[in-house]
Amino acid sequence: MSFPYEAPVSQSLFDRASAVTPGGVNSPVRAFRAVGGTPRFMVSGTGPYLTDADGREYVDLVCSWGPMILGHAHPEVIAAVQEAVARGTSFGTPGAGEVELAEEIVARIEPVEQVRLVSSGTEATMSAIRLARGFTGRPKVIKFAGCYHGHVDALLAAAGSGVATLGLPDTPGVTGAQAGDTIVLPYNDLEAVRAAFAAHPGEIACVITEAAPGNMGVVPPLPGFNQGLKDLCAGNGALYISDEVMTGFRVSKSGWYGIDGVRPDLMTFGKVMGGGFPAAAFGGRADVMAHLAPVGPVYQAGTLSGNPIATAAGVAQLRLLDDAAYEKVDAVSAEVRGLVTAALAKEGVAHRLQVAGNMFTVFFTDAEVTDYDAAKAQESFRFTAFFHSMLEQGVYLPPSAFESWFVSTAHDTAAVERIAAALPAAARAAAAATA
Ligand code: PLP
Repeated sequence: MSFPYEAPVSQSLFDRASAVTPGGVNSPVRAFRAVGGTPRFMVSGTGPYLTDADGREYVDLVCSWGPMILGHAHPEVIAAVQEAVARGTSFGTPGAGEVELAEEIVARIEPVEQVRLVSSGTEATMSAIRLARGFTGRPKVIKFAGCYHGHVDALLAAAGSGVATLGLPDTPGVTGAQAGDTIVLPYNDLEAVRAAFAAHPGEIACVITEAAPGNMGVVPPLPGFNQGLKDLCAGNGALYISDEVMTGFRVSKSGWYGIDGVRPDLMTFGKVMGGGFPAAAFGGRADVMAHLAPVGPVYQAGTLSGNPIATAAGVAQLRLLDDAAYEKVDAVSAEVRGLVTAALAKEGVAHRLQVAGNMFTVFFTDAEVTDYDAAKAQESFRFTAFFHSMLEQGVYLPPSAFESWFVSTAHDTAAVERIAAALPAAARAAAAATA
């Protein structure tokens, strides 16, 4: 595919970046490998808009992969950060901000009795798995194909997100020993989970699942799936870990738990709770969390855990996320979905919009997508054409067919109108695309 529109400043930054950083990026999906073309280097963000190094403005439907639920540079979040940064950037001691953030989380999410702050979602899931193994004294972990839990060695088997985007097999560098205790099962398949428990009695420490997966594109749990996981864990002495790094504080005040009400033993969080800074967390049952050092024997630590700037941003963002904010994000999401589906239907493009709360993905297929194999079966070449048409017209979509789209409270009528104006040409491009 050719790219008639140019981004010379981004291209020159990308050339410089590629000389000093593998692939020119610090997280693979940013490199545009799945869609081709020049990754846009962004210089600023305001509300629903991003501006790139060439001075072009885009309506942002990535929102930093979820965190920017209030839009970019929200004045109250920025003020909280400026106030915090003026007091110093890191103390390596306990601080009031981390207490406030932990209290905010515990107040919102009933199954979380205690929480430990970390700096990334990867750290959160890695620590939760270690804790589950330490608590149960068992080695094995069940995860689902297409679910992404960060780049934790043991969890990279058949992972979603960038691993899916790049079509990578299981990652070199992860040894058989590290992956050997990971059992990968098809998503939404309770029978497979039942069979795994039967095949490995007394060996499975936990089942980890995305509360509602967004990393193979949005593939919500079928009715009863999460409850079935919880019940199988409870019946077999294993812990049920719900990864809410993506859904937490995004799809409702209390994340996916607020939607399906299935009570996990442990949960993981990131993205929205950091207000755009590196802050993440894992938490859950107090008796399980009591196994963590310094109370218990399972070690876990971090120089920058509970960082005062990150916690100030997170607290400010969470306090702004009231019921009205979620109603707004849900409404924008529904409006954008309606526009996308109308434009694609008008051009006769087979597609399926899949939704989890206000997260959604357009799959270029007319079959229901309930697992990773079905996600991979879509006509992703149509997405590539659609993506580039939208980009050219100033709408920034995730550069992969295997990701969720994200909106914010800042996506106002003007932003939605720009999306609406771009869609007819993008739908025509998708219709005309060939494999
Ligand atoms: N878990 C889920 C569900 C995620 O979506 C992600 C990141 O996209 C992670 C864990 C890893 O988080 P991080 O990128 O902050 O390490």
